[in-house]
Amino acid sequence: MSEQDLAAETTVARTHGDFDVVVVGAGFAGLYMLHRLRGLGFTAVVLEAGGGVGGTWYWNRYPGARCDVESMEYSYQFSQALQQEWEWSERYSAQPEILRYVNHVADRFDLRRDVRFNTRVRSATFDEAAGRWNVETEDGLQVTAAFCVMATGCLSSINTPDFKGLDTFKGPCYHTGGWPHEGVDFTGQRVGIIGTGSSAIQSIPIIANQAAHLHVFQRTPNYVVPARNAPLDPAVREEFKTHYPMLRQQAKQRRNGILYPPNEDSALEVDAAEREREFQARWERGGLAFLGSFSDLLLDEDANGAAAAFIREKIRQIVRDPAVAELLSPHSLFGCKRLCIDSGYFETFNRSNVTLVDVSTDAIDEITGEGVRVKDELHALDAIVLATGFDAMTGALNKIDIRGVGGQTLKEKWRGGPRMYLGLAAAGFPNLFTITGPGSPSVLTNMLPSIEQHVDWIAECLAHLRTRGKARIEPTAEAEDAWVEHVNWVAGHTLFPRANSWYVGANIPGKPRVFMPYIGFPAYQRKCEEVVRNGYEGFELS
Ligand code: FAD
Ligand code: NAP
Repeated sequence: MSEQDLAAETTVARTHGDFDVVVVGAGFAGLYMLHRLRGLGFTAVVLEAGGGVGGTWYWNRYPGARCDVESMEYSYQFSQALQQEWEWSERYSAQPEILRYVNHVADRFDLRRDVRFNTRVRSATFDEAAGRWNVETEDGLQVTAAFCVMATGCLSSINTPDFKGLDTFKGPCYHTGGWPHEGVDFTGQRVGIIGTGSSAIQSIPIIANQAAHLHVFQRTPNYVVPARNAPLDPAVREEFKTHYPMLRQQAKQRRNGILYPPNEDSALEVDAAEREREFQARWERGGLAFLGSFSDLLLDEDANGAAAAFIREKIRQIVRDPAVAELLSPHSLFGCKRLCIDSGYFETFNRSNVTLVDVSTDAIDEITGEGVRVKDELHALDAIVLATGFDAMTGALNKIDIRGVGGQTLKEKWRGGPRMYLGLAAAGFPNLFTITGPGSPSVLTNMLPSIEQHVDWIAECLAHLRTRGKARIEPTAEAEDAWVEHVNWVAGHTLFPRANSWYVGANIPGKPRVFMPYIGFPAYQRKCEEVVRNGYEGFELS
């Protein structure tokens, strides 16, 4: 069945009347939330802007898109049967396979019938007298529910920079985060790609292979480690499946919820030869495991500098033109932006049909009908790719007019940066939950276990309220303030806040500079469990 057919089929989802819960978003988070709510006997509807399930994997169909957490881990664990029956084909699966997986989950658990697709939520207003949320969509639909769960995604609000003349460009312009479903054939074209983050780094080698010429407009170079992607060895897959429960448990004890073995040594306590050996071993292993080379890479500037120097040396070895190699070499803090994982990225700059355009000191002046102008030079193009990222963590929520007690909007409350208790709920917004919201580990982790942990917490909280005959839950301002302070305090002991990353909102002009995620998955889970044990400490139930 085509996606359109599936979407059309599901528009029969009951969307009138009252529900126990309204969920916004049908990515991994919204779908699992629906599954849990159903299991507990709550009535629920999911409203989704896209024409199908999958969220990130529905929208980001650019060439080369794939996960950077290994597939055996980047998958749901709530169902033993599901994790035993699904067969990933590659170490890091590509977007079409991940989208097939999400669709399989939607079918297997019969989730589609409660999802309304092509439905963008415009506003959510808490009716204090009724103690219910009124949710309105762009096409005029109105839904009311006792609880509202925002599963709107941390990386779902695309960032299109305000380039002068962008709309005058004569050719097509694509954003990696909203790629055409039918794909794009760049054969014979002069293509320009703006940005060198994870999305660009995955797509550049493939576009370069197709295009007549590719111009890469780079403002800031990034640290990149090889993925070493390969077909998944059936023996590895079976080994995983045999020990899944134990491995999943082990992963939850890691800072970022990912299973690679962390080295507990300090980079500064071993000699240069040992440091080199460890970095080299991780480089050869591939993927995010490089972050676990030493315990202090994200804590100590000298340790950090050692990892940075190792990667710069690799770039010099791979890229033949020393001037290009230098331009591609980052001099910022290592690992404090999302580490990029590649398949042949640096090698691509050895091709004669690829030009690296430095826009770090001379920014892009304008986009004309013919191409991109930097200083006095016009780079003539047939197509432009914007790999310019997202208004992360707060973007999708701030686009919805969310009004809580006294008509206060969430956007106003967050004027100085997002404020939440545990990244789950906000004072002044009763009965509203976010999945992987600001102040939770979310984007610093393998997001699947983070999503499941939040969904399980919310589901059990709603069941608790029902059992106790309570209709309303809201964090206290004191608990929220203390948590926000704690999130900042933890971050302040690391190098993270010093980097100009999207974690601090530095990629969006005017966005308040606040380090948004919480560092430390195990400590966070313990805190969430403790809050429950102490009778929902920090929340008011009434
Ligand atoms: P999303 O998948 O973003 O889903 C949110 C949904 O909400 C979307 O479908 C959106 O359309 C919908 N929505 C938003 N606003 C509204 C509204 N107003 N009305 C109606 N619907 C709305 N994480 C990892 O851990 N490992 C990876 O390897 C990894 N790779 C990634 C690769 C890319 C290209 C990107 C962009 C992100 C990647 N991530 C990765 C992060 C990824 O976003 C999460 O892993 C996960 O998919 C998030 O699921 P979600 O359901 O929380 O959000
Ligand atoms: P990103 O990391 O934010 O990168 C955006 C790029 O666009 C940066 O290079 C940025 O430069 C550049 N840019 C933005 N505005 C610009 C301007 N006005 N002029 C010139 N350049 C500009 O976005 P992303 O690559 O889409 O990745 C976002 C996140 O999604 C990742 O960090 C990761 O968490 C996730 N993701 C994961 C994978 C994966 O491997 N599985 C793949 C894609 C995305 P500056 O750095 O100078 O701001």
